[in-house]
Amino acid sequence: MTDPTPAGLVDAVPALAPYLRPATLLHPEAGTPTAQGSSLGGPAFWPDGAPWPHCTATHLDDAHEDVPPRDREIMTAIDLAVRERAREHGGAHTLTEDELAETRRIMAGADSLDHVNWRTHRTVAEPPADAVALVPLLRVRAADAPHLPWPDGTDVLQALWCPNDHDDIQGERYYYGPAVELHWQRAADLAPRTPPPPRRSDDEYLPEPCVLRPEQIRDLPDRDELPGELHASAEEFAERHGTEYHRGLACAAGWKLGGWPSWRSTDLIPVDCGACGARMRHLLTVESGDDPDLSVGRHGELHVFVCPEDLGHPVGLDLQ
Ligand SMILES: [Zn+2]
Ligand SMILES: [Zn+2]
Repeated sequence: MTDPTPAGLVDAVPALAPYLRPATLLHPEAGTPTAQGSSLGGPAFWPDGAPWPHCTATHLDDAHEDVPPRDREIMTAIDLAVRERAREHGGAHTLTEDELAETRRIMAGADSLDHVNWRTHRTVAEPPADAVALVPLLRVRAADAPHLPWPDGTDVLQALWCPNDHDDIQGERYYYGPAVELHWQRAADLAPRTPPPPRRSDDEYLPEPCVLRPEQIRDLPDRDELPGELHASAEEFAERHGTEYHRGLACAAGWKLGGWPSWRSTDLIPVDCGACGARMRHLLTVESGDDPDLSVGRHGELHVFVCPEDLGHPVGLDLQ
C-alpha cells in the first residue's frame, strides 16, 4: 500500500504529477525573531536611505449618527404597526409604502440602525489625509523557501501590508481587507529599520512577532483546479487510506509559501494579473490564528498571488 502523502498519491495516480508543487509551511510561534532567521511581524529591514513604504489608498471609516427624538418616535410607531399587522394577519413583517418612505428618509442610506442607542451606522471613505505607513508582515530568507521564483541576486522576500480594510484595490473585484506589497531584496542591501507606526490601523491586522519553523512539503490543488476524473481518482485514494483529499493530501493548511490555495468557502475564482492578464500563481497564505494573533476575512485566510510573467506586476488578493 502506498503512503497517504501527496507524493504517494502521485505514485498511485501519475497523471497528477504535473500538479504537485513544492511549498513551505511556516509554523509561526510567538517569540523573538533574529535578523538571521525568517520571521513574522518584524523586525523590519530596509535599504539604507530608502523611504519606508506607505499606503496612499482610500481608507474606510465607521460613521455613526444620532437619530433625532421625533424620528425615534416614528420608527418605534412603524415597528409596532408592522408587528401588530403580522400578528393579526399572520405572515411576514411588511412595510406600507408610507412606512417604507419614512424609514428610507430616516436611514438616509445608512447600513444599519442601533435600536438601543438610536444611532445609524454607515461605512464612509475617509477624507484624503496623510498616507499610512505599512507594517512588516513576513520576512523570508531564500534558504527557507528555495522554490519561490527568486529574481536574480535576491535572497530576502518581505511582505508588508497596510493594516486597514480597503475596497478599491485596483483589479480586486470582491476584496475587502489589507493592502499587501511584496519586496524581493538582497540581504546585503538591508539594514535594521524601525518603521514609523501606522497613522491608523485595525488591531486584527497588527501581527505579533513570531519565529518560524519552515517545513518543506509537496502540495496538490483543490478539486476545482483538477479535471473531474483525476479528482475522483484522488478521492478514491484518500478514502482507501483513511484520509481526506482536501487538507489531508491537498491544500495544506496554515501559513504557507508556494503550493496551492484552498477554495474552502467560495468555488474557484481564477485570479488573473491586473497588468497583463496572465493566470496568477499562489505565493502566500496568511492564516488567522493566535500566533501571530491576526484575523483576516472573518477568521479565514488571505491568499496572495503573483504574476508568473513579471513579479513587478501588482499582487492578486483573495479572502476565504
Ligand atoms: Zn491602506
Ligand atoms: Zn502580469
